[in-house]
Amino acid sequence: MIEKTRFIPDGKKQLKELPILHYLDAEYVYYPVTSQRCPDGVTCVRGGQFVKVGEVVGTRKGAFFEQPMHATVSGEVVGYEKHIDNSGKMVDCLIVKNDMKYELHESIKERSDQEIEALTKEDFIQIIKDAGLVGLGGSAFPTYIKLETKDPIDVVIANGVECEPNLIADYSLMMNYPREVIKGLIYAMKASGAKRGVIAIKKKYKEIEERLKFVLQEFTDFDITVATVGNFYPQGWELAMIKNALGIKIPQGELLSKYGVLNFNVSTLQSIYNAVKKDIPVLERLFTISGDGVANKSFRARIGTLVTDLIELAGGYKDVDTPKVMILGGPMMGTNIQQDDVIMTHTTTSLIVFNEKIEKEEPCIHCASCVYSCPVEIQPVQIMNAYKTRDKEMLKTLEVSKCIECGLCSFVCPSKIHLTEYMRLGKRFAAK
Ligand code: SF4
Ligand code: SF4
Repeated sequence: MIEKTRFIPDGKKQLKELPILHYLDAEYVYYPVTSQRCPDGVTCVRGGQFVKVGEVVGTRKGAFFEQPMHATVSGEVVGYEKHIDNSGKMVDCLIVKNDMKYELHESIKERSDQEIEALTKEDFIQIIKDAGLVGLGGSAFPTYIKLETKDPIDVVIANGVECEPNLIADYSLMMNYPREVIKGLIYAMKASGAKRGVIAIKKKYKEIEERLKFVLQEFTDFDITVATVGNFYPQGWELAMIKNALGIKIPQGELLSKYGVLNFNVSTLQSIYNAVKKDIPVLERLFTISGDGVANKSFRARIGTLVTDLIELAGGYKDVDTPKVMILGGPMMGTNIQQDDVIMTHTTTSLIVFNEKIEKEEPCIHCASCVYSCPVEIQPVQIMNAYKTRDKEMLKTLEVSKCIECGLCSFVCPSKIHLTEYMRLGKRFAAK
């Protein structure tokens, strides 16, 4: 038997020291017409039309909500092209040629503190809906829908744990823009009626803890505290984080709001601040390029930027003759992509490029490591076997739907079996 594995190398030390390069003047920007939660979409502009920063250029359509698409530069609409979005799919993208003037759309007007003070819960929700805000930690779930809950909310938790290796966007955000995160949290508290706010970070982020506590001295009218949680993986998973930061155990599958809790990623809270205070949608985000197959750099770039531009600016690929493995997002839960023709969208946090190492999958040695390490206490090896025999009943009995696709079972497996891929396939097959 092998011990339960929860501590994984995070590779963040060097990445955290990288300066943030600003690349905000791409000549062309590309807006995917669809997204991971919105399989349909339409644009409302024509070729040759001039658009301004913050102008609505289309609508993405999900199963039960719509999300406006906004221009992040001013310039001319010049057509459509297909590129890869954050889900790894090739999708239609509207192209705008940047005129480098960054003219703001007339609808955008900064609000004074007095105006914000007078906003009602409904006003906050409408502003957030109009700005098209979604969960920027990767969920892409519409932010206004969470806030519309009728359940009484006691506490809003800001998730700054970012537990996946190689991801440092939230870390950089909290270090560089702590006030915006805190103000966004205050607006989310007002919009939900919560009296309390908690910012959850990793215990080892002492410098962030100090920084947040220092800035919080400016906000003593509000009950906001910093909670530190363990350094293990997947501590950023919301149920684990809430249990350890708030002491509230929420069963899988239940709504957080039923327990008086709302959870937002810290980047989402910054976007709430920008929408409420400056009346702007998400125009930019932090993005990191890492891995041994590419020059490592951190960027601040406009939504709609081609990632190939960023790779080139970073210094390009290393060992160009070696085949690459490319992942959008973190190495544990990210999406494998076959080509780098990717557009940076709201939820694109990172590109990881590894030089490919051929690791041959060996037969299972029944060590049970995957079972002991699974945070939701299901049995990856049994699920894999049930999927191989297409045993739907067994997959349900083994509760494959509980899998959060954290990737730990694949990581710990000494036989290098891609268990997480079997979990994904098994979930899909059992749900048919
Ligand atoms: S990917 Fe799923 S089955 Fe594997 S360890 Fe994570 S939760 Fe468990
Ligand atoms: S699948 Fe891998 S980790 Fe799980 S029991 Fe088999 S060898 Fe061990």
